[in-house]
Amino acid sequence: MSSYVPVLTFHKIDETPSVTSFPPALFESFMEKLIRNGYRTVGLTDAVENLYRGAPLPEKTFVLTFDDGYRSVFSDAFPVMKRHGMSATVFLTVGDPAKPRPGGRMPPLNGSEMLSWAEVTEMREAGIRFGAHTLTHPDLTRLGTEKIEYEIVKSKEIIEGVLGEPVRSFAYPYGRYDERSMGIAERFFDCACSDELGLLTLESKRYALGRVDACYLKNERLTGLMLSGLFPYYVRLRNVPRKILRRLSRR
Ligand SMILES: [Zn+2]
Repeated sequence: MSSYVPVLTFHKIDETPSVTSFPPALFESFMEKLIRNGYRTVGLTDAVENLYRGAPLPEKTFVLTFDDGYRSVFSDAFPVMKRHGMSATVFLTVGDPAKPRPGGRMPPLNGSEMLSWAEVTEMREAGIRFGAHTLTHPDLTRLGTEKIEYEIVKSKEIIEGVLGEPVRSFAYPYGRYDERSMGIAERFFDCACSDELGLLTLESKRYALGRVDACYLKNERLTGLMLSGLFPYYVRLRNVPRKILRRLSRR
């Protein structure tokens, strides 16, 4: 039994040099390597429920998440996940309902094409889950409380309206949260993800879950680390400079 579960975060699956991009060929070889070595995915909310119930998960379990809802999740990650029967949670930034868009595609983020509702529905039918990630991807710590609640709750309602089932997880845009947004997340979801770098353990904060951003695993050697007992140490090691940087930037 495992005392920790890595929750991996991807954004775009494409070749651009951006920190939020992960190369399609590396994504495919990474997933194949995990499956070949006996790893399997578990749903985010299932992993969280299990841990808090005190039921540890089997060894070699991991969670896949994708933030924002880029179209490349459908075109480049979904075929790989489908082939291996993997589960994942995609956090959708659904757009302002006051500005509906033709074609049912979510409004572009940083100039990238996003998922359409038809693609979301097709992925849901194949077992992929969807979480909320607000309407317009604001830094929630900079908004008034009423606006925070609208961004969070309305985005949840829109996804539920399309999929016809409860949306149980949330991810804070940029991973940024404060007591107000966390309080709202607690009222409306089973768990919420932050940008903290860390593994899912019993010590995790249920409404500010840590994850491992794939930008820390962007070559074959680094993806191979996940198969080794060194992985928790690598995650801890990568966390040190981040924490120091954040402390400095708060001054
Ligand atoms: Zn985001």
